[in-house]
Amino acid sequence: SVATMAAGVVLGGIVFWMFFRPVAEVDDEFLTALQREEFKPFYQPVMNIDTGRIEGCEVLVRWVKPDGKVVSPGAFMTYAETSGHVFEMTRQLMRKTREELGPLFGDHPELKISINLFAGHFDDRRILEDIVSIFEGGRISYDQLVFEVTERYPLRDIDKARKIIAEMHVLGCRVALDDTGTGHGGLAYLQQLGIDIVKIDKMFIDAMGTDLGASTIVDVLVELANSLGMGIVAEGVEREDQLQRLREKGVTAAQGYIFAPPLPGKMFIELASALLGE
Ligand code: C2E
Ligand code: CA
Ligand code: CA
Ligand code: CA
Repeated sequence: SVATMAAGVVLGGIVFWMFFRPVAEVDDEFLTALQREEFKPFYQPVMNIDTGRIEGCEVLVRWVKPDGKVVSPGAFMTYAETSGHVFEMTRQLMRKTREELGPLFGDHPELKISINLFAGHFDDRRILEDIVSIFEGGRISYDQLVFEVTERYPLRDIDKARKIIAEMHVLGCRVALDDTGTGHGGLAYLQQLGIDIVKIDKMFIDAMGTDLGASTIVDVLVELANSLGMGIVAEGVEREDQLQRLREKGVTAAQGYIFAPPLPGKMFIELASALLGE
């Protein structure tokens, strides 16, 4: 009957709305935020835990809404990645990083900047063009840049990723394996991709004191990194006893709330300048 058909159409409409409207809304909001450049780099210092000197920082994105509300990446990175907006977001972050850190980091060529990339960046040569077009001829040199590839999600094409990393190396950039020990690639990534730096995930740092397994994994990663000539950085260090354990294990670089959380540009520059004695 007409009534059943009408009900069907209404129901279909509701189902259609339910599935498509929320996506369209998020997309609009995200695109608008990109156009307004609301995605800001925050910077977390990376410290040398033997000398107390600052070694550089990791760039961590924050969505700073017009009302001042600060949103962490957990709430939007999945969408940024699946929608493909992460490419433009990353370009904006790299440009802002160049502008904000260029003066201080240009004067301190020993300081490094770590930039998070996602698996798709290692499947698309555009990332190389982006890096060159943003950093070529600027105050921050290529050998101050570290690109992080997470082990948490699989790479689609290892061979392609390996080639992109090789070209990053030709520029003078280095590559860190993020979240090491938590994900898909395992130790194979270390060897196949040409990784320069291993980042030990917070999970192991947290469990190190109570769990022999976690402590052993840290030992193995340190030994592996040493014998393969790779750098090593501990993530998410919150307490003095963790720092002490890391020192005993021969880890020299760490980041975490014990030093500072990710900070907005101005605050990070102030802290870094103070640490550099300026
Ligand atoms: P990640 O790269 O493993 O970054 C470390 C996360 O741990 C950051 O969370 C950081 O704020 C947090 N953290 C640092 N020190 C401590 C600590 O001592 N204690 C605790 N509890 N947490 C600490 P955040 O900033 O929320 O970022 C989460 C993840 O989002 C990052 O994990 C990274 O995978 C991703 N992400 C962040 N920024 C970007 C970006 O610009 N691009 C891409 N592709 N991913 C990003
Ligand atoms: Ca990271
Ligand atoms: Ca990490
Ligand atoms: Ca992590």
